[in-house]
Amino acid sequence: MIKVIEPNTDNVTIKAVKALMTEIHRDDAKDRNKDRNYVNMQVNPCKMCMPMGGALALKGVKNAMTIIHGSQGCSTYIRRHMAAHYNEPIDIASSSLSEEGTVYGGSKNLKIGFRNLVNMYQPEVVGVLTTCLAETIGDDIERIVREVRDTGEFEGIDIIPIPTPGYGGSQTEGYFDTIKALMAYFVKKPVHVGKVLEEALEPLEPFINIILSDATCEDVREIKRMVELFGVKAIFIPDISDALDAPFTNHYNKLSEEGISREELKKVIYAKATIELGDLVGPNHSPALFLEEEFGVKAYRLPLPIGINNTDCLVHALAEVLDTDIPKALEVERGRLMDGMIDAHKHSATGDIAVFGDMNLVMGIAGLVLENGMHLKLAATGSMSKRFKEQLESKLDQYHQKAEILQDTDYETIREVIQQEGVNLMMGPSDGKFIWEKDHVDFIRVGFPVHDHVGAQRKNLMGYKGSLIFLDEITNHLLDQKHKGYRDRMYQTYYPKKESHKPIQADEAVR
Ligand code: SF4
Repeated sequence: MIKVIEPNTDNVTIKAVKALMTEIHRDDAKDRNKDRNYVNMQVNPCKMCMPMGGALALKGVKNAMTIIHGSQGCSTYIRRHMAAHYNEPIDIASSSLSEEGTVYGGSKNLKIGFRNLVNMYQPEVVGVLTTCLAETIGDDIERIVREVRDTGEFEGIDIIPIPTPGYGGSQTEGYFDTIKALMAYFVKKPVHVGKVLEEALEPLEPFINIILSDATCEDVREIKRMVELFGVKAIFIPDISDALDAPFTNHYNKLSEEGISREELKKVIYAKATIELGDLVGPNHSPALFLEEEFGVKAYRLPLPIGINNTDCLVHALAEVLDTDIPKALEVERGRLMDGMIDAHKHSATGDIAVFGDMNLVMGIAGLVLENGMHLKLAATGSMSKRFKEQLESKLDQYHQKAEILQDTDYETIREVIQQEGVNLMMGPSDGKFIWEKDHVDFIRVGFPVHDHVGAQRKNLMGYKGSLIFLDEITNHLLDQKHKGYRDRMYQTYYPKKESHKPIQADEAVR
């Protein structure tokens, strides 16, 4: 007789299956990642997928549009997260693959979708991103895009195929791969006209390429300001600062007129250097290394400028590239951050911190947590990166601390560790709100996506100024925890009930 298994009965809950697998692999039980990977099942993974990062990068390109080759759900998922996070209208087209396209190939759908998109939006640039489905059925988007171009109907539109299989990595790899694909498409080796380089005929003011991952729109504006204090222009590849945080106007444009233009993209090889902020993706994903290897533009790969040490790295790199002194204004801002660190230090030690989300952001925030004397209990990401683990372990050693490091993880595991380690403050994207709701652990929303609060795009946590704003926010959360219930605690400590006549212990008075 066949036994019908009812869903949600005890024997088939996800928890029970995991418990069984843990039992079977008792020897591995201490290694959470290994255990998790063996089970190959995640509950609410701690990452977004690759086309999400691709769509985000394309939003920072002027007059660009994205079409996602896959099922409608993929583009809806991306649109929904981006629209809620940025509170801006987010248009992303889809080739809407259905059963027929899945079985016989999605070329027809993609071509129809592409034509509709051009009719509606008249873009200058179109990024064609793939998804799990398009990659699994083996659609050759290079060929499909070539066939679209060969019709001659779309003269003047730059159509760029970008492979971003959802399972191929996180949004971080999707973001960097898309920037690299833009470079590979637009940047060409200079052609000589007589003795003069054709592309260099126009005089160019000195500039630096900046590639910045996991930044808010305000962070981009802040880093731009810092670079420009050195007297050079910063070209952000891409530039989401105004595109995804646009001021209100009476005129609505379907496509963003902000962001890096295709003309600027063609000129990135004339930069003094490329500074890539967010150095944890593998070298094969790095646009800065691509520009260096192919065109000789010097590459600097640095951590996100969060906290004093990481921001110093950026400032010193800029001084080195430009062979100049650090501007006075930045020295003043650094001094102000140090002053703020001194203000915070007497409260920082009460912080038992968990950070989760994108690996670059987790690493940046972990640096700020450690350099301010808080206790890092957990650093978790959905990505897999050898560099993430190595760099974090070395940072922890430097500050004589130990923390749980999770990669390729999910929110169920994160919750378990937070409970075990007695974390009192979490920082990460909105997906952590379930832990906040259920376990009442204090929570600062940071990273992407933040869809249950407003203003995520205006938050500034990078640079000396942003780090200070962020440190103040953290310290104020810790102070609120201290003050919450303070009177009641003091009353209970210093006015014991008469009948108990229990003497007050010194350590009771401290807590
Ligand atoms: S993981 Fe795959 S199926 Fe899911 S939204 Fe991303 S690309 Fe689409």
